[in-house]
Formats: sequence, C-alpha cells, structure tokens
Amino acid sequence: MKVLVIGANGQVGKHIVQKLKDGEHQPVAMVRNSDQIPQFEELNVQTVIGDLEKDFESAFHGVDAVIFAAGSGADTGADKTILIDQEGAIKAVDRAKHFGVYRFVMLSSMAADRPHLGTDGIKHYLYAKHRADEYLKSSGVPYTIVRPGSLTNEPGIGKVRLQDHINDFGEIPREDVAETIVHLLSSPRAENKSFDLISGEQPLEEALG
Ligand code: NAP
Repeated sequence: MKVLVIGANGQVGKHIVQKLKDGEHQPVAMVRNSDQIPQFEELNVQTVIGDLEKDFESAFHGVDAVIFAAGSGADTGADKTILIDQEGAIKAVDRAKHFGVYRFVMLSSMAADRPHLGTDGIKHYLYAKHRADEYLKSSGVPYTIVRPGSLTNEPGIGKVRLQDHINDFGEIPREDVAETIVHLLSSPRAENKSFDLISGEQPLEEALG
C-alpha cells in the first residue's frame, strides 16, 4: 500500500518510514519544510510538503492508508497541542474520509482514553489526544489507535505488551512503536481497535496474533 506518514520527520515517524520501506509498503513522507526532503530522497522515499496548521489536502492524493505520528512536542504550549495533536489530527481524519482510505492508524498516548486521570501539566494533552481518537472512532474511517507509554530512544527489542487496556504504566522504544504500528496497519484483527502498548515479554509477531 501507499502509506502517507504524517509527522514523518519525527523520531517515531522516521522509524515508521524506514519500516514501511523495509516491508511491503510504499511510504509517502509528509514533512513541513523542504530542508527535510533530502534525507527521504536518499532513501528513495517520496515526500510531500504539508503543514497541519494549513491546507494539506494534496498530500492525500493517491494514498491507500494514513499513519498519523505528528505532535506539537513537549516544548510548545497548550495552544499548539490543540492545533496539532487535536485539530490537525481531526482535519487529517476528515481528509482520509474524503479520500476513502483503507486504514487510518493514530499514534496516540497511553491514558488518552482516561484523560481525567492526568496531572495538571499533561491533562490538556491527554484531552487533545482523546478528542482526536474519539473523532476518528466515530468517523467511519477504518482505524487502529495505538496508545504507547513513555517513548525512549533505546534500540527496539521486539517484545511488547499490546492489550486493549494496560493498567500499569511503562516505557517502550520508539523503534518498537514504529514496528508495531506498521504491523497493525494491515492486520485485519486490528481494524477498528485501540491498544495500549508498552515493552513486555511477548514477541511482537505473537502479540499481534
Ligand atoms: P517528535 O519527534 O516531536 O515528532 C513529531 C512530528 O510532528 C515532527 O516531525 C514534527 O515536524 C511534526 N509536526 C509538528 N507540527 C506539525 C505541523 N503543523 N504539520 C506537520 N507536522 C508537524 O515526536 P515523537 O517522539 O516522534 O513522538 C510522536 C508522538 O507520539 C508525539 O507527538 C506524541 O503525541 C506521542 N507520544 C509521545 C510520548 C512520549 O513519551 N514522548 C508518549 C506517548 C505518545 P518537524 O519535524 O518539522 O518539527
């Protein structure tokens, strides 16, 4: 499938692009500025310029599926969290619906399904993710929502806990998040499902069923 990766220049996004390419898919990397293009061209990966705060509809032409891995980051204020993580994601779902994609995979966050449990510093972020996830679920677009725990830059270990809900909090390498997302993208079992995800004992292929 031709897969649009929104947030392709991000730390998880880059792993996703590489893993799509290593597998059976053709990634299309959506980036915000032209300086970010050469690194993908070197990989022979198609790029498209798109900013979630502007009109990015053209990015969706000819794509079969979408992975949303963008986010405003921890250094911006609540305004950007709402504009990118919430409204940007909602706009992306609308475009995906318009273009009739096969699957929309949302990189969300652990506890986004229980935003009221967040501490004051993170509550707005969890509510933004929650709102985007709920919008996707009710959109009619076939979806998979992945809610990882804290992301690390350790190399992937390929062993995860992937469950509807996990009560313990935990960490997971960004590489394993990317690997999981790419597997779930074309898994019929993952259609219209949401998962919490942290590192665990189960080999990824087993966890995915
Ligand atoms: P990241 O490195 O900050 O990547 C975020 C990407 O979003 C960047 O490539 C950024 O573009 C892009 N982006 C931001 N604003 C945009 C806009 N207006 N239009 C288009 N793209 C835009 O984040 P990460 O570490 O890969 O994590 C990905 C996501 O996982 C986070 O955003 C967060 O929601 C979620 N998450 C994080 C944690 C954690 O522990 N950090 C835990 C659970 C879930 P530029 O490259 O141009 O800046």
